[in-house]
Amino acid sequence: MKILVSNDDGYQAYGLRCLAAALSEIAEVWVVAPDRNRSGASNSLTLDVPLRVHQVDDRIYYVNGTPTDCVHVAITGVLDFEPDMVVSGINHGSNLGDDTLYSGTVAAAMEGRFLGYPAIAVSLAGDRPSHFEAAADLTRELITRLERDPLPRDTILSVNVPDLPRDRIRGWAATRLGFRHRSEPVVAIRDPKGRPAYWIGPAGAGQDAGPGTDFHAVAEGWASLTPLKIDLTHHAQVAELQQWLTAPEG
Ligand code: MN
Repeated sequence: MKILVSNDDGYQAYGLRCLAAALSEIAEVWVVAPDRNRSGASNSLTLDVPLRVHQVDDRIYYVNGTPTDCVHVAITGVLDFEPDMVVSGINHGSNLGDDTLYSGTVAAAMEGRFLGYPAIAVSLAGDRPSHFEAAADLTRELITRLERDPLPRDTILSVNVPDLPRDRIRGWAATRLGFRHRSEPVVAIRDPKGRPAYWIGPAGAGQDAGPGTDFHAVAEGWASLTPLKIDLTHHAQVAELQQWLTAPEG
């Protein structure tokens, strides 16, 4: 098996190193990851400058681009083979609920899926998470299971692991995305010249975070496994919208 590994925290991130090491036990691992932290990059592509790919070690490359750029360039330009799977992470911090829309970690997996490969995004919960080896072990076990017993190819799996030692993680739970309260306001600062500037504030706490959600599973010590799809259409509203378009106004 050949696995393409990427992330959004940059090619030097500890989470990526742990993931690559664990997956190397079961596959040939190729790392193509951003040159620096690109968390929050979502599905962005770089279109205004060329992408340069630097090889730093055997099968390890960094790119001056986003996570999506990395997977795109790797699969369509750099690798001379088809990977069996694209795995992104391990992110330093959870990607729960609406985080999924902003996440570069999830985006790298999505790009793998767009290009036709099974894809997994892995995130470790916590502000300063530390149990990366546990999350990497779980991911390796998950992939071993998927090899024996594959899921439909168009599934993207988003994994969120609680920041606990392996023996305190209760197991896997299939979940749906919850959602957060609105995020905290921006933090206003002054730059050295006295001009106002802003830091994006932290994400809100879980709002829809009850049983069955990714938030709940992680809070209860389970490794959360959420199947994602790309189609954002609100299917139930299409017919209603057509009615609204065709009905007389007022
Ligand atoms: Mn990140």
